[in-house]
Parts: sequence; C-alpha cells; structure tokens
Amino acid sequence: MILSDLLTTSTRHSEDCIFCRILNGKEEGTFLYRNSKVSAFLDIHPLFEGHTLIVPNDHYVDITDVPKDSLSEVMSVAQMIGKIMLKNLNAEGINVLHSTGSPAGQTIWHFHVHVLPRRAGDDSGFQKWWFSRTHKATREELENLAIKLIDK
Ligand code: AMP
Ligand code: ZN
Repeated sequence: MILSDLLTTSTRHSEDCIFCRILNGKEEGTFLYRNSKVSAFLDIHPLFEGHTLIVPNDHYVDITDVPKDSLSEVMSVAQMIGKIMLKNLNAEGINVLHSTGSPAGQTIWHFHVHVLPRRAGDDSGFQKWWFSRTHKATREELENLAIKLIDK
C-alpha cells in the first residue's frame, strides 16, 4: 500500500494536533497499517516493545466525539494489530486501552486506542496497580450506582 495515496483522505484535521500532522505527512510516524478511515503507528514512548496507537484519520477529540463507524473501525484494526503482535512479536497477551480526559491520562486530543503487547514477566507496575484493588462493593452499593448511572 502506498501511504501517500491516503494522505488526502482526512477531512477533519487540526494543524495544532501532532497526530493530524503525522497522518498528513508533516511529522514522522512509523506506520503499521492504514486504510481510508483508520491508521496504526508505533508509539514514540513505548510502554512495552511494539506499543501501537490506532487512530481515525479524521480528527476527533475523544471517545465521546468519535462517530460510531470510526470507533468500530478503530477497534477492528486494534484486533488485527493485536493478532499480529501475538504472531510476529512473541506477545503472549494484549491490553487495549483508551483515555478520555486529563484525569484519565489523556495527553493527545486526537482520539486513539493503545494496543500493548504483553509477555510473561514484562510487568513494570501495570499488573500491580490493576490487582491492587481491595474494596469489594456490596450489592447495595452496586444497585445504587446503577440507578445513578441509568438515570436520565
Ligand atoms: P494518551 O496519554 O492516552 O493521550 O497517549 C498519547 C500517546 O501518544 C502517548 O503514549 C505518547 O507516547 C504518544 N505520542 C506522543 N507523541 C507521539 C509521536 N510524535 N509519535 C508517536 N507517538 C506519540
Ligand atoms: Zn488530530
């Protein structure tokens, strides 16, 4: 595939956005995949070797902003890249992550999903944090929360 053929497909872009600049060929990026809707390129600060970002070619800020068809294409490419990691990169597992908003850790305001290849023993605190939860919710707590969440 010739990536430059697809560089003009982006209809919504922001000059201030590093990912738009990468997608439009104005900044360097190491691409693994690109189609008319979505691209996958390697993260410049990999959490694990092979850490990949999947992004819509058009500029959307976060998960609340991205249209459903782009979102599902992003997830489908995340699945494809994850499978390739298992096959070609000695990965034994995969994490798929997304952050919306700075309290959640978002730093780039162009919607993206992280695909992380995982190998036994690669942990650098990630697992420790995930398994650090000690509070087991009561049914009452969960029921009250559910009411709050589904309240219009
Ligand atoms: P987040 O914190 O979820 O918004 O993730 C942003 C990600 O973009 C981080 O993992 C960064 O390492 C990555 N990143 C920032 N600049 C670049 C770049 N120029 N090329 C590739 N990845 C980048
Ligand atoms: Zn952008």
